[in-house]
Amino acid sequence: MMTEADIAALKQCIGDPARVVTNAQTVQRLSRDFYWYSPVLKRQLDDKTAEAAVQPVSTDEVVRVLTYCNEHGIPVTVRGAGTGNYGQAIPLEGGVVLDLIGMDRIVEITADGVAVVEPGVRLGALEAAAREAGWELRCYPSTVVKAAVGGFLGGGSGGIGSISHGGLRDFETVRAMEVVTMEDPPRVVLHEGQAVHDVLHAWGTNGIITKIWLALTPAVEWAQCVVAFDTFDAAFTFGETVAVDPAWTKRLVTVFEWPIPSAFAPIATYTRKDKALVFFMIAAVQLEALTAAAVAAGGEITLAAPFTGLKTLPLLSDYTWNHTTLWAIKQDASFTYLQCGFDPEKVREQFAALKERFGDEILFHIEFSKRGDGVVVPGSIPVVRFSTEERLNEMIDFCRSIGVGVANPHVNNVEGGGRYREDNVQLLTKYKYDPKGLLNPGKMKTFVKAEAAKEAVVA
Ligand SMILES: Cc1cc2nc3c(=O)[nH]c(=O)nc-3n(C[C@H](O)[C@H](O)[C@H](O)COP(=O)(O)OP(=O)(O)OC[C@H]3O[C@@H](n4cnc5c(N)ncnc54)[C@H](O)[C@@H]3O)c2cc1C
Repeated sequence: MMTEADIAALKQCIGDPARVVTNAQTVQRLSRDFYWYSPVLKRQLDDKTAEAAVQPVSTDEVVRVLTYCNEHGIPVTVRGAGTGNYGQAIPLEGGVVLDLIGMDRIVEITADGVAVVEPGVRLGALEAAAREAGWELRCYPSTVVKAAVGGFLGGGSGGIGSISHGGLRDFETVRAMEVVTMEDPPRVVLHEGQAVHDVLHAWGTNGIITKIWLALTPAVEWAQCVVAFDTFDAAFTFGETVAVDPAWTKRLVTVFEWPIPSAFAPIATYTRKDKALVFFMIAAVQLEALTAAAVAAGGEITLAAPFTGLKTLPLLSDYTWNHTTLWAIKQDASFTYLQCGFDPEKVREQFAALKERFGDEILFHIEFSKRGDGVVVPGSIPVVRFSTEERLNEMIDFCRSIGVGVANPHVNNVEGGGRYREDNVQLLTKYKYDPKGLLNPGKMKTFVKAEAAKEAVVA
């Protein structure tokens, strides 16, 4: 339990005491993310909250806060914008929630296309600044307007743009990170090149990212297009043709099985009852060729228009990636989701096997991404009708038995989420940087405090 003395001391760690928040309602709000997407996590995490929120605006302030918390055994859970959807930023053991949204300086966009930023910069703001300099983000989540760069690196994986540039782990998109450790005393260290993977997607369990060097890509003039097809099979085939052909310059290819589009109320005019849809972000110069190809494949064009930035209406990305799940839940609270990776060689057999076994309990929503080896593969964030946890696990087991990979979004630890690295670099880094296990405790399941103590003795 934190004491009045802890609060007073933390106020001394930062420039403005008002940036130590103890108001219960605000602390609770800052202890939340989109965990409620999962009925399983909702049950587990509803009552979890920090005891205080601390809002540093510089690396020095982060170091001072961590120094105090380390000395006094206070847990620290770092937070960006709180749009994560596995309860990643929810403190399980009280303590401090470290809200870094005020560390929001874009330090530089270099001439060779690297953005140097603080972790609280919103991805949408960075995309706008990059475009002014002739660049754009390689990939961004559908939460782009709200999500912060630090949170994306800590808990996200990819999104719009990943079809051409892979995810955050690929193609050296994350060039370097400054990290504050929870050692005795905390240090500021630079992770460059392959060493970024020690901390990337570790949910803030092994270091606090305080500065980021993120590679950009030359800006493209984009257009948006929606095509309706009579069947999911026809929609998927056309989407896949465009996705895997490098001749098309694209940022997004998303395929939806009906009735998922029936949940897209604000863009109902671009949907067609009983029809599957494909959403594209395509180079504006290729829009005409794309619509011609879509019509030749039997599609009906319901939207073909320029994309003029993140304020464009409709903004198709608002309905893709994990936003699809949000619309489905708004329509029917019994919907939840999975995150699946299909085998490009067997994807149609895998679709058929899932439909045969689960029927309309699983509705396909496909996103294409480029893997690190350059192959574009179909992933899926299917909308799933929730009945019980057992049934959800049965579906996950079945997926795995037919070769469909599942990153389980209904577990609250780095390892279970499916983005864990076999080489264990994140865990090894935690032993080194957070031997007392104070950073986002409980989220790295394989971390054992006793082992950390042993390692310290050996070292
Ligand atoms: C509707 C919806 C759609 C989504 N779509 C996508 C998508 O397309 N692609 C995708 O990858 N994700 C997606 N997500 C998940 C989430 O939005 C992204 O991962 C987002 O980038 C998280 O950013 P954030 O700033 O909100 O992070 P937060 O939720 O605040 O934090 C995420 C994790 O990172 C850690 N963290 C935060 N800041 C730091 C830091 N400075 N140093 C170390 N660790 C840190 C936190 O402790 C937490 O574990 C979606 C979520 C929702 C609700």
